[in-house]
Amino acid sequence: MGSTGSIGTQALEVIESYPDLFDLQVITAQSNADLLIQQALKFQPNAVVIGDESKYQLVKEALFDEGIQVYAGADSLCQVVEFNQVNVVLTALVGYAGLKPTLAAIEAGKDIALANKETLVVAGALVTERAKAKGVNIYPVDSEHSAIFQCLVGEFHNPIEKIYLTASGGPFRGFTAEQLQDVTKAQALKHPNWSMGAKITIDSATMMNKGLEVIEAKWLFNLKEEQIDVIVHPQSIVHSLVQFTDGSMKAQMGLPDMKLPIQFALTYPHRLPTDFPRFNFMDYPQLTFEKPDLNVFKNLGLAYEAMKLGGTAACALNAANEVAVQLFLDEKIRFADIADINENVLRNTEVILQPTLEDYIQTDTLARKLASQHSII
Ligand code: NAD
Ligand code: MG
Repeated sequence: MGSTGSIGTQALEVIESYPDLFDLQVITAQSNADLLIQQALKFQPNAVVIGDESKYQLVKEALFDEGIQVYAGADSLCQVVEFNQVNVVLTALVGYAGLKPTLAAIEAGKDIALANKETLVVAGALVTERAKAKGVNIYPVDSEHSAIFQCLVGEFHNPIEKIYLTASGGPFRGFTAEQLQDVTKAQALKHPNWSMGAKITIDSATMMNKGLEVIEAKWLFNLKEEQIDVIVHPQSIVHSLVQFTDGSMKAQMGLPDMKLPIQFALTYPHRLPTDFPRFNFMDYPQLTFEKPDLNVFKNLGLAYEAMKLGGTAACALNAANEVAVQLFLDEKIRFADIADINENVLRNTEVILQPTLEDYIQTDTLARKLASQHSII
């Protein structure tokens, strides 16, 4: 899901390098019909989904002679993940839109390679509970979580004392709150170490991405808030660390390249050879670590707050953030407004403890409404 995006296109590169290992069944995209068609012609899946229904005819006509089935609309995602031939679903679509199709895939017993962190942020309790009930594995694709997962191979029975998620710090590392006021969209979209979709790039600049990842880690590895720490590591070489109860720490390292965690999620427990560039110590004589500044990057603190509140709090925060990031990308609000909107929505949305799926859906709707109103004031 999300084959035309940053993770999606890199996943197709991984698949292309091991054609005998993978049998691509379905690819999906929201609006980039041209690239979806190109990918379908090349990879010959059995079906494609185009989210934007106005592009259905275009895609349908282009793929008619190929015998590739074409579906349109958000609901189709929930159908295609259930296909018999599907063993694993890579969730590389962005935002809350991932929740329903991921749940549908889990209910159908499909393993999940999870890039779409928002799904676990919104409804981690429900998603992990359903995955457990269905015996479904959730393999992390997010680089930090893949790092933790890789450190845990061979250690699954050893309790974790603590994990350290590393953060690059984004383009505004070291900025004061005043300096953050005036940053532009172009500056925010320029990530120092990773090339990613627009939403996660802005999230990295506000450090909300790390906040979302803290919550993602809680659910993936069944941790308490106080077991998750964030450390800023501008070189993005140490992808994260685990500390065990004997005090030993394991880290996973390498040059930043998302194809590695994508491939590991799809080939676990095997490591397959790659020709990705290798790390050279002489290029990195110093690896540095520093504390994140929560007074400047308020979103990270808000994510911890939402995690502590539990229930639907993180769902509300995520919805506010999706709205705020879009408003910023549309140049309707300033960079610093993103965290203010998030804070307002988190503080003013009722938290439902032990929520049902319906509660999450309603909280998302309410929080989006509130976030849009704040932007007008
Ligand atoms: P992207 O914007 O580059 O791509 C998003 C993909 O999802 C596109 O194919 C798009 O067509 C599809 N999509 C967008 N909105 C949709 C909707 N409403 N319904 C269905 N499909 C929709 O994003 P990305 O950078 O590839 O990120 C995808 C996910 O992976 C995000 O949750 C992100 O946080 C996570 N992630 C990305 C990276 C990275 O390096 N890009 C790293 C870690 C985690
Ligand atoms: Mg990450």
